[in-house]
Amino acid sequence: MIIAIDGPAASGKGTIARRLAAHYGLPHLDTGLLYRAVARALLDFDHPLGDETAAVRAAQALDRSHLDETRLRGREMGEAASVVAALPAVRAALVDWQRAFARRAEGAVLDGRDIGTVICPDAPVKIFVTATPEERARRRFRELAGRGESVTFEDVLDDIRRRDARDSGRATAPLAVAPDARLLDTTSLDIEQAFRAAVAIVDAAGIAPARA
Ligand code: C5P
Repeated sequence: MIIAIDGPAASGKGTIARRLAAHYGLPHLDTGLLYRAVARALLDFDHPLGDETAAVRAAQALDRSHLDETRLRGREMGEAASVVAALPAVRAALVDWQRAFARRAEGAVLDGRDIGTVICPDAPVKIFVTATPEERARRRFRELAGRGESVTFEDVLDDIRRRDARDSGRATAPLAVAPDARLLDTTSLDIEQAFRAAVAIVDAAGIAPARA
C-alpha cells in the first residue's frame, strides 16, 4: 500500500504525508531530504552545485545518517536542493533508494515532486497537494520568522516562485500532476482540515491499510 504525495514547496504536503503515515501506521520518506543532503554534501566540500560528477558521488554515498533534518532545513538548503535536483544523473542515482523504501511489505508514504509520476507510478493512491504561491509564502514566512530568520515576505514569495519555476521547468521528472492523482488545494484549509481531506481521499480508494 503506497501513498504518493506530491506538490510544490510549502503546500502542506510534508505535514500531510507525516500525519497520514502516523494515521495508517506506515513508514514515511520525505524525499526532499535526499536532494537537500546531496546539496549539503557539495557545499560542505566546496563543490559548485552544478558539479554533476560530485553530486552523483554524494547521492550514491547517501544513507539514513545523512538525513538529519536540523542540518538540511532552512531557506538556502531548499534553494540549493532544487539546483542539484535538476541534474538528471542525480535523480537517476536516487531512484533505487526511493523505490526500495516504497517496496516494504507493509507499504509506505513518500512525499516529493515526482513520486506519483516517476518513482511510484503504480501507487494506488496519489495526492497532489497545492496552494496559491501567496498562501505558501505566508506559511513559509511565518515558519522562518518563528525560527528567528530575518527575511521579508517578498523574499520568501520570490523564493517560492523561483523554486516553482525550476521544479516545474526542468527536463527530467518535473513537478507535475499525475493523470490519476487527486488534487488537494489547501489554500483555504488549516492543517487539520487538509489532513482530514487527505484521509478521505485514501479511504475512498478502498485499499486503506489497517489503522495503527
Ligand atoms: O520538499 P523540499 O522543499 O524539501 O524539496 C527541496 C527541493 O528538492 C525541491 O525544491 C525540489 O527541487 C527537490 N525535490 C525533487 N524531487 C523530489 C523531492 C524534492 O526534485 N521528489
